[in-house]
Amino acid sequence: MSDAESPNTDYEFEPTSPNTGSEFEPVDIFPDSTDFDLRPGADSCYKCSMCDTSCPVAEVDDDFPGPKFQGPEQWRLKRSDDEHEIDDSIMSCSNCMRCDDACPSGVPLSQMHNTARGEYVEKQMDKLSIEYIRNRILANYRTSARIASKMPRIATAVMNFGPARWVMEKTLGVTKEREFPAFATQTFRQWWAARGGVTVSRENAREARERRGEPVDADKKVAYFHGCYANFNTPEVAKALVRVYEHFGYELVVPEQRCSGTPMFANGMVGDARRHAEVTLSSMSDLIEEGYDAIASCTSCSMALRQEYPELFDIDGVDTVSRNTFESVEYLRIHENLRSEIQSADVDDAIEKEFAYHAPCHARNQGISRQAVELFGELDDVTIEDVGDSCSGISGTYGWKEEKYETSMEIGEEMFEHMEAVDATTGMTECPTCSSQMEHGTGYDIRHPIELLSVALIQ
Ligand code: SF4
Ligand code: SF4
Repeated sequence: MSDAESPNTDYEFEPTSPNTGSEFEPVDIFPDSTDFDLRPGADSCYKCSMCDTSCPVAEVDDDFPGPKFQGPEQWRLKRSDDEHEIDDSIMSCSNCMRCDDACPSGVPLSQMHNTARGEYVEKQMDKLSIEYIRNRILANYRTSARIASKMPRIATAVMNFGPARWVMEKTLGVTKEREFPAFATQTFRQWWAARGGVTVSRENAREARERRGEPVDADKKVAYFHGCYANFNTPEVAKALVRVYEHFGYELVVPEQRCSGTPMFANGMVGDARRHAEVTLSSMSDLIEEGYDAIASCTSCSMALRQEYPELFDIDGVDTVSRNTFESVEYLRIHENLRSEIQSADVDDAIEKEFAYHAPCHARNQGISRQAVELFGELDDVTIEDVGDSCSGISGTYGWKEEKYETSMEIGEEMFEHMEAVDATTGMTECPTCSSQMEHGTGYDIRHPIELLSVALIQ
C-alpha cells in the first residue's frame, strides 16, 4: 500500500465494513497447483443448494441447471472421466458471481465456471459459428470501442440506426432492443493527456495537501484503472474521480492498461483475457512496487483484478495487484475521513437530489454493496434509497445477446419495480453495464457515486 496510511478507524460504516485489502482473500484453494485443477474443490460441496437458490438465471430460466451443476457436479464428472465434455449450459451462466457469495462451504464456483467455460469454448465450440463470432466481438468491446472512438458521432449514430440494429440482430444475434451507448467525442485518456497528465495531477495534489494542512510531500499516489467504459463512453465518471482524488491530495497516474477481461471471462475467451491481463499486471505491479495503490471506478474491473486474475492466471505480479486494488469510493472510505467532509458538504442545484441505488452483484462479492447508501445518507438535502439485492440482469454482454434478452429483462424486473417504487427519478450504481440496464428498464438517468462526491465536495 502507498503511504496513504492505515485505515481510518474514527468511525465505522455498518453493516458492511470497507475492504481494507488485508482482509480480502481471493479464493486460492490449490496454492501449489500450476494448472488450476479444480476437481478436488468439488469435495467441499455438501449439496445444500444455497448457490442454486441465489442464482438469478436459474430463477427465471427452467433450462438452466444452476451453479451446483455447473461447478462441483461437472468437476466431479471430470474426476471420473478426464474426457468428460463440458455441458453447453455453461454458456448460460452470466458470471454474476452471486453463487460465490452464497456458498457456505467456500466452493470456488465462479472459478470453476470460468475454467469450464474457457474449456468449452476452446475445445467444443465451433470457431466458425455465428455464436462464437458474436461472442468474440462482444467480449472484445475495447477493440470495437477504439475503432468507434475515431469517429464517435458517426459510430453512435450508425450503431443506433434502426435498420442497422435489425441487421445486427439477424446476422450476429445482437439484440436490437437495446440502444448502444454513445461514444465520447474525447476519450478520458485524450482528456488526461491534454490536461497535462501526471505532471498537472502532481501539482494539483500538492496544492490540495497544502490547503488541507497536510504535509506537502505526503506519499499519496494512486494508479487509476479506468477500464473501457469510462474511457470510451463515460469519461465524466473518470474526470470526477480525478477531481475527487486530487481534492484529497492524491497524485494520479493513468498507466498502460487493457480490458479488465470481465466480458471475456463471461464468454469463455480466457486466452484473450490473459493477453489483456498481462499488459495491465505488468504496469500496475511496477507502480505498486513504487508505492502506488490501484483503484478502479467499475466494480467488475476491481473484481477481475482482485479475484479473477489470481484465480485464473499465474502471471508475474498477479498477487501484488490483487492485494493492492480497491474500488475508488472504498479506497477513500478507508484512507480519508469522508464522513466528516460529507457532513459539512452541500450539493448545488446542478445535480439531482433523490437517487435509487442499485448495488452491482460484483460489489456484493467485494463487501462494498452498502457504501454509497451509508455515505450519502449523511449528505444534507440528498436522499438515496437502496432498491434491494436483486441482480440487474444484464451481466455485461449477457443481456446483449438476442437469445438472452428476455431472460435478462425478466431478471431485472424486480430492480425496475423497486426503482419505480422509491421516491427518485435518478439511479445510481458503480457498474456501467448495470447502469445501462437501469436506464433501459426505467428511462432514468444514472450516476456513479464518485460523480455525486465530486459535486458535493468540489463544485
Ligand atoms: S455466476 Fe451467477 S448466473 Fe452463473 S451460476 Fe453463479 S449465480 Fe448463476
Ligand atoms: S452452496 Fe456450495 S456447498 Fe451448497 S450446493 Fe452450492 S457449491 Fe455445494
